[in-house]
Parts: sequence; structure tokens; C-alpha cells
Amino acid sequence: MAALLRGSRLLLLKWDKHVDLVHVSTRSMASKTPVGFIGLGNMGSPMAKNLLRNGYPVIATDVFPESCKGLLDLGAQVVDSPAEVAEKADRIITMLPSSPNVIDVYTGPNGILKKVKKGTLLIDSSTIDPSVSKEMAVAAEKMGAVFMDAPVSGGVGAASMAKLTFMVGGVEEEYNAAQELLTCMGANVVYCGQVGSGQAAKICNNMLLAIGMIGTAETMNLGIRLGLDPKLLAKILNMSSGRCWSSDTYNPVPGVMEGVPSANNYQGGFGATLMAKDLGLAQNTATNTKTPIPLGSLAHQIYRVMCSRGYANKDFSSVFQFLREEE
Ligand code: NAD
Repeated sequence: MAALLRGSRLLLLKWDKHVDLVHVSTRSMASKTPVGFIGLGNMGSPMAKNLLRNGYPVIATDVFPESCKGLLDLGAQVVDSPAEVAEKADRIITMLPSSPNVIDVYTGPNGILKKVKKGTLLIDSSTIDPSVSKEMAVAAEKMGAVFMDAPVSGGVGAASMAKLTFMVGGVEEEYNAAQELLTCMGANVVYCGQVGSGQAAKICNNMLLAIGMIGTAETMNLGIRLGLDPKLLAKILNMSSGRCWSSDTYNPVPGVMEGVPSANNYQGGFGATLMAKDLGLAQNTATNTKTPIPLGSLAHQIYRVMCSRGYANKDFSSVFQFLREEE
């Protein structure tokens, strides 16, 4: 029913546009009911700010209330728990580190599902195990709510500029309702199929990203050892068949590019811990489906070792520094 209502609201908006401008603005305002946002970290905070910028009132919570300070200053309402968010909003976005946090926020003692209203649309943008997304969808359905997975590609910069790519899995009839919110935070919103398929796409992308980054880092390291100037080597790679995102947009060698984590002692960006987590998800899903991922498995081990050797909080491109230190 909520889906129908949401759908009909969108249809009305389109119709109104052609007949009565004053009426349109009233309806638009009416569609901008509060949106709940849980998990105001590196990504969640700029994403929620973009909802506010688009005129959606935001009701936020985070286990570390100080994470909500920036949003509070911009006019968001901050509450104490996911359950309280669910009492006040019928569209909720979650942006949490990993599967256990998502399970806790949805099904824990103060979780969303304790107070969720029937018809609520729940969108999880965390990168987690697709099987957990499916479990959350079943639990949400029991309460009369709808759960969709919508993990993102693009880092903190893309989140700030509303340039994220969302990979969406879930009931197709709800996709338009999800898209209405996701387009405020992203440049691309792609429907991938049933619930969990957004996570599947995200995990595949990040496995390739990790393999590409390690490949770029070891190539650059070898070239430097062979006496090549790193800027020159990067320029040649980027006009040749070795070019990839890690070489031309996010080069891991300090001094090659400006405005990337390697230019700032690998601060900010996408942490090695999160990359190790995503590779662990790739490993689990590959094991479950008996799929060979030899390079993905090796990348997982490399990031795990990095995390235990002081790189956990550095950007994942610090694999260059890690390899350089290996004599
Ligand atoms: P983060 O650790 O900066 O933020 C997560 C936030 O969730 C934190 O503020 C934390 O306090 C909060 N949180 C944790 N458990 C909670 C709970 N039980 N209740 C309420 N709040 C809770 O992580 P991030 O960098 O924002 O990443 C979030 C997700 O997005 C991860 O799954 C990550 O893999 C994915 N992602 C990150 C990037 C990136 O560049 N950082 C890019 C793409 C995808």
C-alpha cells in the first residue's frame, strides 16, 4: 500500500507539473517528509547533508553522538537510537561499517525493527554480506516494511559532491521511491535486481579495485627501483595499456598526483580496514559459490597483513608504502 501511495504521489507530481505550478510546489513540499539517517561517519555525514540541501528534513543517530554535530548545525534532528528514528520517519537510510553493525541497527534491542512503521522504506548503503541483506529484508517484511540494499561506489569526495554511484537491490516496485532519495546523493543510481544484488555488484567492483591498486603499486615500485621517475612512469602507464583508475585517478605514489591520499600521508579516503573487509566478503561469497578468485584471495591476505602492521587506518593506496618497505 505504501508503495502504491509513494508511486501515486510521484505520478501526481508529474501530472501537476503541467497544470498548476502553485499546486506543484505544495505537493513537492508534502513529499519531503523527514528521512531517517543512521551512521554519520565519513560517508554518512556528507550523504545526509545532501539530503538536507535537497530540502528533506533529516532525523539522525549514531553510536557516537558527536558524529552528528555537523548535521545538527545544519538543522537536522538528532535522536538517541535507531528505534527512535523509526518512530519518526518512514524512509530510513543506514550507512554503517559492516554486517554486525547492520544486524544490530536493524534487529538489536534498540533497533529499527522494534518500532518500524508499516510501509517504511529501509535503504542500507553499507557494504555488507549479501546474505545479511537478504536476512534483513525477510525481517523487515515480517514487520510490514521494505528493505533494499544500495551500497555505493565513490569515496568521501564523491559523497560530498553528490556524485556517488548506487547499486540497488530489492523489490523493483520500490525502486522509484528509493531513487527519489538516492539521486540527492549520487550521480548514478543503478537497479541490479533482487535484494542482495547491489551488494554483489559492489563486492565485485571492490575486488577488482584492490587487485588493480596492488598491481599499480607494485608496478610503480618496480619502475622506481629500475631508476624511472615516478611521474614519468605514471604518464607512460596512463597513455598505455597498463592504465587503470588506480594509476590515472588515485595514484598510490606520493608526489605523482595532487589531491589524493598518497599526497597527504595516506590520510582520509578509503581505509585499508574497509578494503580488507570487502575482500573478506568477496572471499566468503566466492567460497559459497565455489568460484575461483586467486588474485582476490591474495589481495585479501595482503590487506589483512597490512592492517596488522600499522596500516589499518591509512587509505588503501598505502599498499605502495607497504610494498616499498618490503626489501
Ligand atoms: P565510518 O566508520 O566512517 O562510519 C560509520 C558510522 O557508523 C560511524 O559514525 C559509527 O559510529 C556508526 N555506527 C556504527 N555502529 C553503529 C550503530 N550500532 N548505531 C549507530 N551508528 C553506528 O565508515 P564509512 O567510511 O562512512 O563507511 C560506511 C560504509 O560505506 C562501509 O560499509 C564502507 O565499506 C562503505 N564505503 C565506504 C567508502 C569510503 O570511501 N569511506 C566508499 C564506499 C563505500
